[in-house]
Amino acid sequence: MPELPDVEWTRGRLQKWMRGASITSARSDDARVLRPRAPAVVMRSLVGRRIESVSRRGKWLRIELDHGVYVFSHLGMTGEWVERSTEEPTLRAERVRLDLRRADGRAASVRYLDARRFGRLLVAREDILEWRELGPDPLADGLRVSALRAAFARRRRAVKETLMDQTVLAGVGNILATEALFYARIDPRSRSDALSEAQVGAVVRGLRKAIRKELATRERAGDEGWTDVFEVYGRKGQACRRCETPLEHIVLGGRGTTFCRKCQVRRNSRVVETGA
Ligand SMILES: [Zn+2]
Repeated sequence: MPELPDVEWTRGRLQKWMRGASITSARSDDARVLRPRAPAVVMRSLVGRRIESVSRRGKWLRIELDHGVYVFSHLGMTGEWVERSTEEPTLRAERVRLDLRRADGRAASVRYLDARRFGRLLVAREDILEWRELGPDPLADGLRVSALRAAFARRRRAVKETLMDQTVLAGVGNILATEALFYARIDPRSRSDALSEAQVGAVVRGLRKAIRKELATRERAGDEGWTDVFEVYGRKGQACRRCETPLEHIVLGGRGTTFCRKCQVRRNSRVVETGA
């Protein structure tokens, strides 16, 4: 599932493709991705609008058009924005959920593709609830140890689950949480409300490192040959890169969680029991 670095990379591309452009045609027949409003209604509200900017909070994108119209986009599991030649088939072609053409003379359209259709596209006149209720965004707002510690203290859950709570921090998913806790050397089952200021500081540094690394990998790979190299995520049973102990895999809060039992210490006595 796309997390903050993927969505930030997408934002940069959308901004490059669309800022300042006017929409001459908008086509979609996908009522599921565009729920709750009908595709025809949504499309009518886009044609003739000029795109002012593209911003991001967490995993949400907000395309701001003139006359106070916003398009909100969440990529879900498999959503992606691409620029394609208008010669390529559009609607009815598999996976194309939205096709936008711009008044720039280029024979290309900007398209939203989504194989599994868990993504969302919403057109609104104001910020939607899902956008407003997000916690601080690590890139847009920065990460502050004191604020994060206060948010951790209010939640009596495993630190990994707290990190993935979008009202605590926007954009942190399974990958960033898993990697950050490895860097911080904290067992993902440790309770967030029992971490010391120094330990929260280590989580913040771990998050910064994981985000920076992911953004750099994205930039380097671009569209092609995109492969992730993670420290622990997805490396169940393989040797820890720090101590060579085989990495553990448990289910925590319904999500697969990989960590090193030796390097990642239970930082407090109040450990959440998972039965795993
Ligand atoms: Zn280790």
